[in-house]
Amino acid sequence: MKYKLTRTLSALAFVAALFTVPRAPQAAQITQPASEDRVALYQALLDLQNPWTVMCVAAHPDDEDGTSLIVMRHKYGAHTVSLFSTFGEGGQNAIGPELYEELGAIRARETMAAAEIQGSEPHFLGLKDFGFSKTRDEAFKFWGHEEALRRMVLEIRKLRPDVIITNHSTTSNDHGQHQATALMVVEAFDAAADPNKFPEQLKDGVTTWQVQRLFVRARGNNAQQNPDRQGGSPTIVSINPNESDPIRGQTFAEEALHALQQHATQGPWPKTIEEMSMRLPPNMRAPGNRPLIRYMLVREAKGAAPMPAPESQNFLDGLQLPAAVAQQLPLPDLTTPSDALKNPERTKEAIIETYRKGNYAGNSAGLADPHRRELTRGKMEIAAAFISGLHVETQLPTKTVVANSSLNVPIKIVNGGSERVTVTNCGSASATAKSAENRAADVRVNHSRLTTERPLSPGNSFTLTDKVEIPNSAKTNVPLAQHLYEPTGLGLNLNLRCEYEIDQTKLGIDLPLRVDVAPPVEIQQVTPSLLVVTPTTRAQPQTFVVRLKNHQDTPFDGKLQSFNANLPVHLAAQSAKDIEVRLTQNLPAQNETLTFNLSGPSKGSANVPVFFANAQVARNLRVGYIRGFDFSLPNALNALGVESQELSVDDVKSTDLSRFTSVIVDNRVYESRPELIAVNQKLLDYANAGGNLIVFYHKSDEWNPDERRNRPQLAPYKLILGGERVTDENAPITFLEPDHSLLNSPNKMGQDDFVGWIQERGLYYPREWDPQFHALLQSNDPGEQPLKGGLLVADYGKGHYIYTSMVWYRELRGGIPGSYRMLANMISYGR
Ligand SMILES: [Zn+2]
Repeated sequence: MKYKLTRTLSALAFVAALFTVPRAPQAAQITQPASEDRVALYQALLDLQNPWTVMCVAAHPDDEDGTSLIVMRHKYGAHTVSLFSTFGEGGQNAIGPELYEELGAIRARETMAAAEIQGSEPHFLGLKDFGFSKTRDEAFKFWGHEEALRRMVLEIRKLRPDVIITNHSTTSNDHGQHQATALMVVEAFDAAADPNKFPEQLKDGVTTWQVQRLFVRARGNNAQQNPDRQGGSPTIVSINPNESDPIRGQTFAEEALHALQQHATQGPWPKTIEEMSMRLPPNMRAPGNRPLIRYMLVREAKGAAPMPAPESQNFLDGLQLPAAVAQQLPLPDLTTPSDALKNPERTKEAIIETYRKGNYAGNSAGLADPHRRELTRGKMEIAAAFISGLHVETQLPTKTVVANSSLNVPIKIVNGGSERVTVTNCGSASATAKSAENRAADVRVNHSRLTTERPLSPGNSFTLTDKVEIPNSAKTNVPLAQHLYEPTGLGLNLNLRCEYEIDQTKLGIDLPLRVDVAPPVEIQQVTPSLLVVTPTTRAQPQTFVVRLKNHQDTPFDGKLQSFNANLPVHLAAQSAKDIEVRLTQNLPAQNETLTFNLSGPSKGSANVPVFFANAQVARNLRVGYIRGFDFSLPNALNALGVESQELSVDDVKSTDLSRFTSVIVDNRVYESRPELIAVNQKLLDYANAGGNLIVFYHKSDEWNPDERRNRPQLAPYKLILGGERVTDENAPITFLEPDHSLLNSPNKMGQDDFVGWIQERGLYYPREWDPQFHALLQSNDPGEQPLKGGLLVADYGKGHYIYTSMVWYRELRGGIPGSYRMLANMISYGR
């Protein structure tokens, strides 16, 4: 598989943005730089003028303020990084069945894609996202306050931001993980600078670090009373999303929306700024415009340069480098990028001369601020290469490697400039690394590299191949979900570097690459991955499908041992890359975890938990369902031994629904398949004529009647959702109508059925409903008002309608027996 550098670079610094440019294939034809090159060159010249780093701290992927990150990079040229407390694995998934760690691995990569557009560099603390919580104490209970702070302080000490901004506030009425993150930012602001805090971190180039300013997003009119703020009168920075990017021909808001859309699992996102504006409350709407983003200065370092004015448009206004640091960062005198581009020849000479005279090629260790010096070196090198018309491109032949192997990486060097250059050295960066701090790859790699000097005249190009050795010690991060929380969970960095000479000056350019490291042979999947058996299905032999992937180029011998040791499967000289093994086995008599073991070139195992649910169903059920984002519903119906059929929206339109005893609209289907709204009347008619229509939870803005979206009341009677949640998965459940048949037949529901729940009880609880509905279950988080709308049922004509905002899908998926018993009652209702 060809894997463009552009895709793997997403998470890596500014260098990434510059080498993503598709190039004309024939070097000789290059006369005028393409417009993408102009953008890259403009950005490189802008970056060169800004020595500062801005960090945005957020609890979850998609909480980052992408607009401000983009403005700080694209308008001002600041180095920008984002720091996320978690991978967001406790969230929902709007595009696929993955949840938990699998979702976290996807969201980490969505974040990298967003960061590529933002021109920023994402980092993660790897704290566990356990789902929605209402208080920061709950978050700290899971994270450990000290441990979480320790990680944040370490990232600040390594990344050395001058300014931190965050969307989150310590006390806003917000997600507990947001509040906890906001509190840690305030604490870390001081702790990172304090040598007595986490002193064990202060080694290997990591030192204390004093952030100059901390800004917290001001929402509505709360700027004046922001609780995170030190005394004094407020200082506000306003970021205007509606300004145009000086070179890219879009507004910052449009760029930010494009970045936001990369968080696809958290969608659906607006497609246009217009649509985005319509989601705001009416008093904040202005067609085509986004409201200003306002931040308040809440913390300043002792002796930090004061903001020159109480209102400004730049977090960095007035900051001054200490003289000792400034002296080590000589910069060419370029004024603005546009001016510099008017005379590219002079600009080129100025950059190259400053690089040479400033000895940027020299070792930065021991200097006053080696990190900033290394960042500036990188900026100088990128600007020098681009203004000289030199392009270095590389394509990884594969995205996934195995330890103890080698990889041939082609590096194409194009001289699109007017002057001869001499390429002196090109290949794995470790051999040329000068400062361990900023440039070290994760591992030291051996390589065969260009050893002789090679001249490259204007209009020419050549490609050389660097043989990168992946050492035996490379840490495996595949399957991604299994390694999510490990320091190497996002892959192995392979930093390449090319060096060349122009105008008698030695220059270089870094090419950061990233690969995933897989075991030689991987158990990719066992289906089913979790098994629930009921009295109906328990005695049936179960077929498991084990999918293996051979990541090596050579065949392998191995043995797959199932939990039933009598049935090992020998895999002899398997040359296929993808191997599928089917095993039909009888199940053990009790709850047990079944293990499949692989031996051979790599050892691996996969576990399949088996749960027994004593769930009875009425006879002769036929269930039609419109599936949501995952397969928890069809899997559960199979486990119950019920005949079922997935229905498309077209099926709903054209099928005679009366042949189903129940029809289920799965989670958030009115949002994921909005076409269903147009045929909703058919579903209601089905219930009215004697059917049993069951609707699982939706978000309030996906459900409530809304003229602008042509969405009527979707239930047969008034049913309005609010935003309330019960996030404590152990919150007590009260039976409001204990004798109601939905709670008693065929399975008598009891408190045991609500034990061991996962993540939460329910989301977006109904706020108002017609008296026709019977509310059966009540629950609430500690100290809050009881919510009665978790399970609503009404007679409708000759049939029934059930709406439930409880998270049955998480519980079905997690094998919680009570959820199977309740689903059995719902589909048996009225039979
Ligand atoms: Zn969040």
